[in-house]
Amino acid sequence: MNKVCFSPCSSYYDTRQLRTALEQVIAPQIESFGGISGKKILFKPNLLAWRKPEDPACVHPAFLLESVKVFLDAGAKVSILETPAVQTAEAVIRAMKIEEDLKRLDVPVACFSKFGPMRTDANTRFHHLELASEYQDFDAVVDIAKAKTHGMMMLTLCVKNLFGLVKGSERMGWHLNVGKDFSRFADMLLDIYLAVRPQFNLLDAITCMEGNGPGSGTPVHRGWVVGGTDALALDAAVAPLLNGGKELLILRNAAERNILPDFEIVGEQPQIEPLELPPPPGLLCEWGVMLPPGLKKYIREWMVARPVLDEEKCIGCGLCAKMCPPESLKIINGKAVFHYPECIRCFCCQEHCPKGAITICKGTLMKVCDVIERGMRKLMK
Ligand code: SF4
Ligand code: SF4
Repeated sequence: MNKVCFSPCSSYYDTRQLRTALEQVIAPQIESFGGISGKKILFKPNLLAWRKPEDPACVHPAFLLESVKVFLDAGAKVSILETPAVQTAEAVIRAMKIEEDLKRLDVPVACFSKFGPMRTDANTRFHHLELASEYQDFDAVVDIAKAKTHGMMMLTLCVKNLFGLVKGSERMGWHLNVGKDFSRFADMLLDIYLAVRPQFNLLDAITCMEGNGPGSGTPVHRGWVVGGTDALALDAAVAPLLNGGKELLILRNAAERNILPDFEIVGEQPQIEPLELPPPPGLLCEWGVMLPPGLKKYIREWMVARPVLDEEKCIGCGLCAKMCPPESLKIINGKAVFHYPECIRCFCCQEHCPKGAITICKGTLMKVCDVIERGMRKLMK
């Protein structure tokens, strides 16, 4: 049976407390793996982009560093591999100010560089994905995610973090291919999870991100370290605590595909205040699929959430335009301008804007539904 373990930790800067919390959640994983002494371990942390150390877009540097030390002290040999969206893994680690610590610990940091066809089986839905293949050279993978909201998937936890194994240049293509249908995107993430199946999974939920995640949301303190022997089991244990009862597509699809693993919570079962979520655009795209094409276009515009620009925050850097799979976003007169008919609502622009200048705005009908829902809730009180 898979194990998911929660441990409280109030601060990244109380090293002893952080270390104790990490040891508590890692110990059941090491036991389940059968020991890690002498093993080659690959760390795949969420290093979204070059940010300040305390920015909740990435796993916190203290969290990453202490996790590495727990594995080293148990006799493992650790390497860190990740491919951030724009910069290199080395540059992000430098920005986090732990480059020298990792050098002293003899822990190499690099971007994924070898790619090959993803391992598939009878459960696979996407048979032509290329993934980083380096993980196969290691005895085990440690998937380290940050608890954040996400425009497409509502939350990004351990399963979503594995999308970083897809070649950087191809991630955009996959957003373009499956971005219109978020349920398919969730299925693709599940395929990657099934292929990689990280043996160790950690979630940094000490400071989480809510609202305009995963790149520009608001940091909020929740004070938990979570570990699990299975990424999907960990997501299934954590999501109901963070998403206020809303259904995650990844979990819904996993249940439908009969791949949701059994798990038990080891130790404390916490109460965590839910995060403020972005609007759920995926649901609405699925509605759109059932409509006649002529009508679909208009309904989609009313219903589906869309990216909108805060002109005051936009510095015209052009990163959003570079990340836009269908090139429906251009920089005109130093500001980002959307061409909505071509926009597939993948929210890559919102994810990568370094200034938080792009937010997700609900469609008119979604807002009406919200008002009705709030009214109903009040009546039912
Ligand atoms: S919206 Fe953000 S990413 Fe795009 S140009 Fe403006 S600041 Fe840069
Ligand atoms: S404008 Fe933004 S949401 Fe629309 S397709 Fe481009 S990156 Fe995706």
